[in-house]
Amino acid sequence: MSAVSPSNSKIEAAYREHTPNSASRSRQARSVFPSGLVHDARKLSPYPIYVERAKGSRKWDVDGNEYVDYYGGHGALILGHAHERMLGATHAQLELGTHFGACHDLEVRWGELVKAMVPCAERVRFTSSGTEANLMAIRLARAHTGRRKLVRFRGHFHGWQDHVAFGVDNHLDGTPSPGVLEGIADEVLLCDTSDADATLSLLRGRDDIAAVILEPTGGSFSALPMREQMLTQLREVTAERGIVLIFDEVVTGFRVAPGGAQGFYGVTPDLASFAKIVAGGLPGGCIAGRKELLDHLDFEVCAKKGIEKVGHHGTYNANPVCAASGIAALEVLQSEDACERASAMAARLREGANRLFRERTSNWFCYGTHSSFYFYTNAEQPVGSEPLEWTLESIKQVAKLPVTNKLRLALMVEGVDMSGKPGGLVSAVHTEADIDFTVDALGRALERLANEGELSS
Ligand code: PMP
Repeated sequence: MSAVSPSNSKIEAAYREHTPNSASRSRQARSVFPSGLVHDARKLSPYPIYVERAKGSRKWDVDGNEYVDYYGGHGALILGHAHERMLGATHAQLELGTHFGACHDLEVRWGELVKAMVPCAERVRFTSSGTEANLMAIRLARAHTGRRKLVRFRGHFHGWQDHVAFGVDNHLDGTPSPGVLEGIADEVLLCDTSDADATLSLLRGRDDIAAVILEPTGGSFSALPMREQMLTQLREVTAERGIVLIFDEVVTGFRVAPGGAQGFYGVTPDLASFAKIVAGGLPGGCIAGRKELLDHLDFEVCAKKGIEKVGHHGTYNANPVCAASGIAALEVLQSEDACERASAMAARLREGANRLFRERTSNWFCYGTHSSFYFYTNAEQPVGSEPLEWTLESIKQVAKLPVTNKLRLALMVEGVDMSGKPGGLVSAVHTEADIDFTVDALGRALERLANEGELSS
């Protein structure tokens, strides 16, 4: 049976039937926002859901449908939605004021927590987002080394600013994506984590490399798998060559372990960027690292050395409300086994999904590390092959396959929401019952797909 086209798809019809209010919101939004969206990752055909409220592992849309949520606030919510501690802290701070335009106690406490939990954090500076934190990391590395080149890895996401906007999903040859200057792209050297030898010899062979930046568990939080050994190798060669090693811990920070991926793997970078969990689900990020590097932001140190300081502003840096939420989150993560619980629940989900995929599909596979899971629906992959051997192109292609969109619609009809990778992030408040519900829902979604001829090889 050949696959059913979207216009005749019962899955799409069921989704439309479930979500008429989301459909009308989406029509309205299209006259305000390009594509009706405020974030590229929320694209879903025929339209995305509109969510009204969320609590714990669940969220509810404007049609009253309940979903087990694996978006997790794009990774910000390892403690689930509307956690009591974060609610209490932010409410209390709202009453006291949302912006003092001044230093305050919470920023110091917040920074001290980051310093106590993150191995590389001799000094910390808060930003408003992960994009900003990476921008600062790259700038500090260039200011410190006086070198121009930035080594990045294909498929590793570091936000949307110019230095990192290409070579992730598109422009894998390193050419600039629209709006990015060629001169900026020319200073970026793209490597592949699958080819450690080529990367290491590049780092050994050039004298103009300021920094290497990477997601330490692999691109898009391990959707693009990477060998752990690569971290040690990169640490050794960057230390030898005076190159700044930057871990982008925007997702892995306070998730993989309380000390992030660097804490988990025992490899300490020179700089690390954080966002998402660090602010407890509110906007916020930070750069943390060796004092010598963050000293480029220090008025007195720079004056003493006779060097020009790196500038840093930002209206919402360490905003008091975000600080209150961040402190509450980090205190919970420091004192509980939340990271381990999230990882254990994700392992249960991966196991259940793979059981179903073995039974019902010829070549689907669920992969992930720590608290992530990804569904590979790519018929071109050799069955049972090691994810480490998969190519970036084939992994990235999965998100674009029509069957992936249909799978997401079918899962939503069955009460599960996940991202378009396709996959998701598990939190510490997902229970075994949530995971078992999800695996059952996946079974029913596969049945719907089979009925439309999507599972035949
Ligand atoms: N780095 C990584 C690894 C990310 O996943 C993200 C966001 N998804 C960013 C950086 C950018 O963070 P933000 O959206 O806070 O700018």
